[in-house]
Amino acid sequence: MPGILTSVTIKNGSPSMSSREVLGMARRIADQTGDQVAAALVGADVSSLTPELAASGADVVYLSESEFLTEFQAKVYLKVFQDIGEVAQPHTILFPADAIGMDLAPRLAYRLGAGLVTDCVDFAIRDGRCIFIKPVYGGKALAHLRVTTPVALATVRPRTQEPFPADTRRIPERVIVAPQIESIPREATVTDRIEEEGEEVNLEDAKVVISGGRGMGSSEAFRQLKKLAKILGGAVGASRTAVDAGWMPPSHQVGQTGKIVAPDVYFAVGISGSSQHIAGMGGSKIIVAINRDPEAPILRIANLGVIEDYRNVLPALIDEFSKILKN
Ligand SMILES: Cc1cc2nc3c(=O)[nH]c(=O)nc-3n(C[C@H](O)[C@H](O)[C@H](O)COP(=O)(O)OP(=O)(O)OC[C@H]3O[C@@H](n4cnc5c(N)ncnc54)[C@H](O)[C@@H]3O)c2cc1C
Repeated sequence: MPGILTSVTIKNGSPSMSSREVLGMARRIADQTGDQVAAALVGADVSSLTPELAASGADVVYLSESEFLTEFQAKVYLKVFQDIGEVAQPHTILFPADAIGMDLAPRLAYRLGAGLVTDCVDFAIRDGRCIFIKPVYGGKALAHLRVTTPVALATVRPRTQEPFPADTRRIPERVIVAPQIESIPREATVTDRIEEEGEEVNLEDAKVVISGGRGMGSSEAFRQLKKLAKILGGAVGASRTAVDAGWMPPSHQVGQTGKIVAPDVYFAVGISGSSQHIAGMGGSKIIVAINRDPEAPILRIANLGVIEDYRNVLPALIDEFSKILKN
């Protein structure tokens, strides 16, 4: 019996990055506790993804396939997860903290009478049991939580875990769990899908993120950030203040109540560095802050600080990077 079950979100026909991160975390827990790792693969026409999940860390794949599972429906998926849980009997169930995971995990926890820790960023093993670690007080402290119910559920914040290095030699056990969902009424039907117009690079996957804050002063000023992002193949983010001012759409907000990013390079332009903002970008490898205030808190975590009005810095950066990258 696998001890740890992970939920897989399918994005553009493949397991999402967050799902692979959660599998990676499950694998690292299992390597210390001796458990097996299982993945719940739920959807329509998804069986071909089994080898990919095995390569990403799953010993067992519980497959529940049906054309009724094409679109996420909370009550329908809940029943499927309950059925998989009954067959798999895991002691720990992990979800990516994405829209599906955040919807499903509390419902499943209630049904199972299980404890749930949301928004985990790390784990520790004590006495053979998993301790979930999550930020509290707006990221100012980390709480270490042990779930005392027989089954523990957790959602894992995207970009806080590394996916498991792909190992294509792993042959998974595949268990088919036939979905018993015909009698569950559908509460919504998807009639159309409209993709938000955006940059070519997804903010959460971008290797370079250039974010602007209140210091940018206007939505026009964000054009410069977009220009720099285009040159560097990156994406544009924003502080909540910039979003509230209407300079960028909410989907670009980085922080505690926005997107979590962990790029190789993060530019914070005219951003003070509040704890709520840092909660979304503190895991970036290199942080470059451009701020005219030498006391701005962002400079305490920046690897490189440019204390200057951004208007004097950005045009030079755009020029230099375009020259360098042309050659
Ligand atoms: C529950 C809750 C959740 C929140 N969630 C988020 C979140 O997810 N993300 C988020 O970002 N915030 C969040 N906030 C808001 C957060 O507390 C801050 O208010 C916000 O991050 C500040 O945005 P800012 O840094 O752009 O603006 P400010 O704090 O006003 O900073 C502007 C900075 O720009 C600099 N500046 C000004 N002009 C220039 C110039 N010409 N050149 C260079 N530098 C200049 C200033 O020196 C200053 O440091 C949240 C708040 C709460 C209460």
